[in-house]
Amino acid sequence: LADARSERVAVARDVNAGAASIDRAQLASDLTIAIDAEELFLQYQPKVHLRRQEITSVEALVRWNHATRGLVLPSDFIPIAEESRDIVALTLWTIRRSIRDQRTLAAHGHELRIFINIAGVLLADARFVRTVCALVETSGARLGFEITETSVIRDPESAIANLKIFADIGIVIAIDDYGAGLSSLAYLKQLPARELKIDKLFVTQLTSSNRDPLIVRSTIDLAHALEMEVVAEGVETQAAMALLSVMGCDMIQGFLISRPINLDALIHFLAEEKHLAIAAEARAPFNR
Ligand code: C2E
Ligand code: MG
Ligand code: MG
Ligand code: MG
Repeated sequence: LADARSERVAVARDVNAGAASIDRAQLASDLTIAIDAEELFLQYQPKVHLRRQEITSVEALVRWNHATRGLVLPSDFIPIAEESRDIVALTLWTIRRSIRDQRTLAAHGHELRIFINIAGVLLADARFVRTVCALVETSGARLGFEITETSVIRDPESAIANLKIFADIGIVIAIDDYGAGLSSLAYLKQLPARELKIDKLFVTQLTSSNRDPLIVRSTIDLAHALEMEVVAEGVETQAAMALLSVMGCDMIQGFLISRPINLDALIHFLAEEKHLAIAAEARAPFNR
């Protein structure tokens, strides 16, 4: 009986694995079309600078409005795009759209740097680097690139060289998801990064954990010693924001301020200046 049962489980597992790989292949071929079919769209999530109490930048996050499946999130298609090389077209689309949206924001009186997530494979792609340089130089756009240290590890020499090229043309480099992947102090020392984003893994439970505050505080101190500004991602509560403020964290990003939102909603959000009241609260407990 036990044998029959484990056999059934094994068969079920095979069927699932098969279905998952067909699904993946289907998504991969759909994605190639999606880019031209205008099925991708961007949402923006603001970063609030705590001391300055202003929003100086936003992060662009790509979404896929699939013809039959509906909304597909990046965690489901970015890995597929990286394997198929569609990541190049996807990222160039994201950059072009961000440049266009930055002009729209400027027309509404909002001068914001737009940060774009850059997959590791692109950091070793000389043609991608040339195309980006041309786009930035002809548009004069103010961009930032978020990269993970894990993405530098594949080919550190070309990654570091290309990041220096990006930094030289005015693109601000941010280290994303710091602490969650293969964080190497050797890379931290060499990367031309101006911002360090602490992974939400250490932030979402900041006020209910014993160790997270210690890790976050020492990371902030380390980044400051290296003359980088620190962004905490995944800030969901007033209490977390207040603690981050005391620890000297420079910027916060998270659902407390805003979820990622469409361009129209971002323009409304910026006009309402709601973040000012929220950011003012960061200091309130200590002013009282
Ligand atoms: P990421 O760059 O670390 O982005 C942060 C993720 O955390 C986003 O998920 C965002 O929606 C989510 N988030 C923001 N605030 C909070 C919060 O307060 N609490 C919680 N629990 N989550 C929060 P999203 O949009 O699903 O993106 C996932 C990942 O996909 C991104 O992680 C990024 O690595 C990747 N990604 C998104 N857009 C692109 C893109 O255009 N190109 C590439 N290569 N990767 C992208
Ligand atoms: Mg990011
Ligand atoms: Mg991140
Ligand atoms: Mg993350």
